[in-house]
Amino acid sequence: MTDNITGKVVVITGASSGMGEATAHDLAAKGAKVVLGARRTDRLETLTKEITKAGGEAVSVSTDVTKLEDVQKLVQTAKDSFGRVDVIFNNAGLMPLSPLESLRIDEWNQMIDVNVKGTLYGIAAALPIFKEQKSGHVINVSSVYGHKTVETGAVYCATKHAVRSLSEGLRQEVKDYNVRVTVISPGAVDTELTSHITEPGVGDTVRDVVSKIGVPAGTMADMVAFAISQPDNVDVNEILFRPTVQP
Ligand code: NDP
Repeated sequence: MTDNITGKVVVITGASSGMGEATAHDLAAKGAKVVLGARRTDRLETLTKEITKAGGEAVSVSTDVTKLEDVQKLVQTAKDSFGRVDVIFNNAGLMPLSPLESLRIDEWNQMIDVNVKGTLYGIAAALPIFKEQKSGHVINVSSVYGHKTVETGAVYCATKHAVRSLSEGLRQEVKDYNVRVTVISPGAVDTELTSHITEPGVGDTVRDVVSKIGVPAGTMADMVAFAISQPDNVDVNEILFRPTVQP
């Protein structure tokens, strides 16, 4: 299972908590060299130390995925540190749910900037390297909400639908460069994601549900490892998972 992971250079955005952090631990333990990006550098430094102490290889770079130059620096650091880049895991995301009529326009912009443009910037940073190498793997994070639209989720769901759409478009374009594209769509996972919901009434309800039914962040790590570990001529196009009890 881990054969096609050992030695791979994996860039992870949103590595400071939740699924990014769990995936960093898991892939490093399986022998990948992980390159970690997020804004909370104190957390990245702790994570890097934990991975190194456990015998793994990790470097971290302060990264705001809404800034193309930050994402380019993250990916270039991976190449400079380890000589190549094998995987970019575009995982950073925000979910401040609210009804459209609340007009939380700053939050709409944040979601579009992080979830959609951040993912595109990851692609933009990695693609030239992948084309030159004639190999690479883009793993993008959508959601169950990239498959359906729910009340208070119009903008978030739109961003996650966009991630699925641009992932499929990318897959069609880069297959001839031997570049794999995977989109992973989680259901409820117990992370900090719901802590950013500011809409009265919505945050507490969602946090209550996720704390009761959410699966651990390591579930995502298992999915990422599954996709990466396939033979190079097998591209896992999409994974959709959710807690068994989630509608
Ligand atoms: P967390 O809140 O634990 O992690 C989100 C990560 O995104 C953090 O590391 C955060 O780092 C990072 N991030 C946010 N904004 C930026 C930014 N501007 N630049 C760089 N990094 C940023 O949540 P999850 O682990 O749950 O989320 C991971 C992904 O999974 C997201 O894309 C989310 O939409 C998706 N998802 C989550 C589900 C769930 O139930 N948890 C369900 C479906 C999808 P920092 O703040 O340090 O920058």
